[in-house]
Amino acid sequence: MIQIAIDGPSGAGKSTMAKRLAKELGFLYVDTGALYRAIGLYMLRAGVATKDPAQVLPRLAEIKLELRHIDGAQHVFLNGEDVSSEIRREAVSMAASDVSAHQGVRDFLTETQRSIAQKNNVLMDGRDIGTVILPNAQIKIFLTASAEERARRRTLELEQRGQKVSYDEVLADIRQRDYNDSHRAAAPLRQAEDAVLVDTTQDDFETAFQKLCDLIRGRID
Ligand code: C5P
Repeated sequence: MIQIAIDGPSGAGKSTMAKRLAKELGFLYVDTGALYRAIGLYMLRAGVATKDPAQVLPRLAEIKLELRHIDGAQHVFLNGEDVSSEIRREAVSMAASDVSAHQGVRDFLTETQRSIAQKNNVLMDGRDIGTVILPNAQIKIFLTASAEERARRRTLELEQRGQKVSYDEVLADIRQRDYNDSHRAAAPLRQAEDAVLVDTTQDDFETAFQKLCDLIRGRID
């Protein structure tokens, strides 16, 4: 099986890029953030303080998560309920960032992620795919862009989905999540030594997409 890992900070365009690349290559696209988001959502609904591992970890036993691909799109099921839309709310983003800092949560999700990659050619996007989950992935990409550019793109995306947001709030959120993701003790966000760095601050989507297509094809053909 071929494994491609795409890591990077929030809003760098990983999911749009990974989805397009996966389609182009005929690989299964796996959005691992959806798993952390589903756990964040569960804890929010349960009124659990998401930053507190002593409250979060015992509740994991109540959760069954499943990723299913329906018509080419990934859906995440939380105890049998399709929560794919609800996990995109901003409140859930922050809860996901909180719960993902707990080692027990990461351990809970490791097997789910690895087993998908054992059975399929995958293009997996996340924060620690190249460093922890799939350290032997054939291709590793670290996709990033400046915080301001990511906030600009995220604001646009949320507005297009009909959500009212301010750029300043989105930027503050992105900075907070960057900080959380890169300073946590458990699997902090960092570029794997053998990952290719792609910074899309200046590039438009098509340019970056072509760069990555060429890079991947050069390695797997
Ligand atoms: O990628 P996305 O923004 O959906 O991820 C939601 C949150 O889950 C991130 O802020 C990050 O903290 C966490 N995450 C993670 N490891 C992954 C994927 C996501 O810690 N592999």
